[in-house]
Amino acid sequence: MPKARDPRTIAAANGVGSDTAFGAVTPPLHLSTTYLFDGFEGEGRYAYSRSANPTRDQLADTLAKLEGGAGAVVTSSGMAAVDLVLSQVEPGRLVVAPHDCYGGTYRLLAARAQRRQFEIAFVDQSDPAAVTEALGRAPALLLIETPSNPLMRVVDVRSIAGQAKAAGAKVAVDNTFLSPALQQPISLGADYVIHSTTKYLNGHSDVVGGAVIAAAPADVEALAAWANMTGVTGAPFDAFMILRGVRTLFPRIERQQQNAAAVAAFLEAHAGVSAVHYPGLAGHPGHEIARAQQSGFGAMLSFDLAGGVEAVRKVVEAVQVFSLAESLGGVESLVAHPATMTHAAMSPEARAIAGIGDGLLRLSVGLESESDLLADLDQALGTL
Ligand SMILES: *Cc1c(COP(=O)(O)O)cnc(C)c1O
Repeated sequence: MPKARDPRTIAAANGVGSDTAFGAVTPPLHLSTTYLFDGFEGEGRYAYSRSANPTRDQLADTLAKLEGGAGAVVTSSGMAAVDLVLSQVEPGRLVVAPHDCYGGTYRLLAARAQRRQFEIAFVDQSDPAAVTEALGRAPALLLIETPSNPLMRVVDVRSIAGQAKAAGAKVAVDNTFLSPALQQPISLGADYVIHSTTKYLNGHSDVVGGAVIAAAPADVEALAAWANMTGVTGAPFDAFMILRGVRTLFPRIERQQQNAAAVAAFLEAHAGVSAVHYPGLAGHPGHEIARAQQSGFGAMLSFDLAGGVEAVRKVVEAVQVFSLAESLGGVESLVAHPATMTHAAMSPEARAIAGIGDGLLRLSVGLESESDLLADLDQALGTL
């Protein structure tokens, strides 16, 4: 048996040199929608690209290996990946989701529940009593996001996944904020791992995509069949681009989290900042769990400005290295105001329950020089 490859090697080189037609080192991009039959009734491995495509399969295989799953289904967006997992829930069953989940996920869960496709319970997953109560209602699916968006709350995946399994539920973890370079939820007990590949996996803010990785072969098969039926599979060109991004996943995220740690320490010491939410800070409530279940603290953080929304306006208009924009995980640093941007789809009441205040700013820290990033925040906070 050959030695199992290190994830860094998988990311950099899975599928390299596998082209049988011309010996291309970089796996080629196959745009053809349809494939030759080898004579009458001679359907080959590929027939039609909605169902299966070699370039998309190359990405799926790489992601499955990085997450330690049995296989993966590559979808057209992260939301399509979330919805693909939800398609496995039978009518009338319960889905338990974090009350501070990604805004688009919150909107989708609420809309599908309103159409009675399933019931939804949004719970504070850092509150053990709330989790136990929800799992006591025999849910079909528990959805976890850790660290959560935008407050970076950390959930003990092994503990609540074990509890959910005992209650008969499947467990899905949205691993978008860390990527498999920093956290592998299947090893912590998850059945499904969801990605918006738009973020760290692609890493260059130029493709929208998603993926679901499943631990069990039967789940991979069911997800692939459903994705083919509904047509949510990702485009081959996008898969090619995302795999190109995955090649540099480890060095990007490692450098970005170094920058993020420096930014967090800087903000923590600033008088205009009332709280910093970064799991790498020793005072963060999820610090110890993050240390245990992650192999790094990531490059996302958020912070509260003591001056509320007026201070937010000044800071986001003053930054020059950070760009005011939604999304995250790219090589460039971004700042977002969750209450009016990423989490505007939540009602003000739901935001209040989730702890997302009007003075909260979220940062996606990129690959720029640490000193430029700190100087930019220093001058922007200096306007307060
Ligand atoms: C962006 C994001 C999504 C949705 O992904 P899209 O690619 O934008 O559809 C889902 N979950 C999390 C945590 C995200 O950050």
